[in-house]
Amino acid sequence: MESTSERHAFLFDLDDTIYDHRNACLCGLAALRSRYSALRTSSVGELEVEYDTFLNRLHPLTLGGQLDPQTARRERVRLLFSSHGEDLSAGEAHRRASAYRAAYLASERAIPGAPAVIRALSQAGYPIGVVTNNAVRGQRRKLKVCRVDQFVRALVISQAVGVSKPNPEIFRIALRRLGAFPRQTVMVGDSFESDVRGAQAAGLSAIWFNRRCRPFPSKRRVTEIRAWEPMRSAVRTLIKTSTSALAEGSPARAWAVTET
Ligand SMILES: [Mg+2]
Repeated sequence: MESTSERHAFLFDLDDTIYDHRNACLCGLAALRSRYSALRTSSVGELEVEYDTFLNRLHPLTLGGQLDPQTARRERVRLLFSSHGEDLSAGEAHRRASAYRAAYLASERAIPGAPAVIRALSQAGYPIGVVTNNAVRGQRRKLKVCRVDQFVRALVISQAVGVSKPNPEIFRIALRRLGAFPRQTVMVGDSFESDVRGAQAAGLSAIWFNRRCRPFPSKRRVTEIRAWEPMRSAVRTLIKTSTSALAEGSPARAWAVTET
């Protein structure tokens, strides 16, 4: 009989599922706000909403290779100041983008509990993959920052494979690299569109990592996890979703983990 560890696999998104992009972004914006008075008419939370709009507008160009990450960052910062009544030269936009970046990098961290969950799954024998949209160098750095790189058997980065989520092909690439099948694999991510719908289109089960407790964007609900802590509860939900994706009657190995 096949063991559970051979039959089940987990794929994770990286940004805002394992790596705390949001925290680093808020720290970058707070640094700009404290340095430049033009931004002080808004709270950091309001700046985040604006900055996200620019990020979402420009990200497809970054993914498509038309904008390098540094230029995209400079443009986001330029747009942010412009919307607060300050038009920046290219040089000044670059300086302020560098200030944002320095504060961002100084605040890098994993989402609390995420590394422990991934380590527990890996040590219990479950193959782990990461499927992420972005540039190779930055995503590899983020995995290292989170100290989960040694547990990730397949790292699929959109820039490297030439296809981005929610395109089902990127999930198929991860499955091939893990030697896993869609019905046996659960994708976990914070983007309902890219991670949940994309994975479902490739025939995988999906869990929505809904840290911000947002309402479901679809009537078709999926399992959600709102925090990685407590770790045992999160791991139980992951494995329950994984085993229930298989036909009833499939034997599931009892799962045990020692918290470290
Ligand atoms: Mg994400």
